[in-house]
Amino acid sequence: MKHMTHPISPNSTIGILGGGQLGRMMAIAAAEMGYHVHIYCPEADAPASEVAYQTTTAAYDNLDALRAFADSVDVVTYEFENIPAASAALLSAHVAVRPSAELLQTTQHRVAEKQAINQMGIATAPFAAVRSLEELTHAVATLGLPAVLKTCRMGYDGKGQVMLSKDSDLAASWQKLNTDDAILEGFIRFRMEISVIVARDVAGHCVCYCPVQNTHLHHILHETTAPAPISEILSDKAQAMACTIADGLNLVGLMAIEMFVTENDEILVNELAPRPHNSGHWTIDACVTSQFTQAIRAVCGLTLGSTQRLCDARMLNLIGDDVNDWKHYTTVPNMKLHLYGKKEARAGRKMGHVTQLLVK
Ligand code: AMP
Repeated sequence: MKHMTHPISPNSTIGILGGGQLGRMMAIAAAEMGYHVHIYCPEADAPASEVAYQTTTAAYDNLDALRAFADSVDVVTYEFENIPAASAALLSAHVAVRPSAELLQTTQHRVAEKQAINQMGIATAPFAAVRSLEELTHAVATLGLPAVLKTCRMGYDGKGQVMLSKDSDLAASWQKLNTDDAILEGFIRFRMEISVIVARDVAGHCVCYCPVQNTHLHHILHETTAPAPISEILSDKAQAMACTIADGLNLVGLMAIEMFVTENDEILVNELAPRPHNSGHWTIDACVTSQFTQAIRAVCGLTLGSTQRLCDARMLNLIGDDVNDWKHYTTVPNMKLHLYGKKEARAGRKMGHVTQLLVK
């Protein structure tokens, strides 16, 4: 194991697994602070590589490439959570991986994640593990309908999910999901979806950004409103839950926590993402410390920065052809345009975002 100095100083090299826009914005934040970034991802021409010092283009299960990557960096983090557990474990034997390989493993599996959260005394949707059609039938009898059937692994932006209602054909739905490792979740009639971004340092200090409201279009995040229009009591509660989870999982780094606010103001945790998150992009322009800078600070063992909001903000994702309106956004006062350098605007692809600063 590489000797760790605290903090990891500027001019050291941060390894980032994943080459998407999250890696790109982390790499920019790291470069601002004088760190070098080495991106590891399977894709050539990745958005993060364009702004990084070095890239390894290799599969996530290429053990030789992973070993060489571990030798070339001072700490490893990730912007993509579906790294094989064995790869994260191999890296951990050579260099600090933050957040840890154990935390990553828990958050890669929806049942393990919900069990861990419930064990901390925090509520989620009611759920049951489902590994066969028989177990699905049993789970439906227990949880009732409507319900949401999801793959335990690799789901994102609504992929690997089937809504079940009274009229659904369970056998057909089970076949459609095409897995033997699923979860059935009771359907939550939420009044709002919110998220909290939490960072925790090596000494265990925890800070949160204010809860934000998220709305989705075709299962993809469309708009984030900061702060979420909820009471101070609820906001405090959501942040306290986020810190409990960060402590409980021994987080070192930054994590997003997606939550449902129900009609009677209960907060249920939906999902954890142990990395910067789309719902935190507004922090680049509207907070003292952006979520990307904060992630770098936490991973490098630095003191965390202030999460203070300088002004309210609204973030709009530019998906697919939305990016063609880029010029318009440059003409709107208080609007900050961020593009990710992706050449092809495919449908559903996150091409960029704009943040409107709601300055008084
Ligand atoms: P997920 O991949 O778990 O984040 O789910 C994607 C979206 O589906 C969420 O943002 C919700 O809008 C919706 N959703 C997921 N799980 C549930 C649930 N148990 N009840 C109601 N809506 C859900």
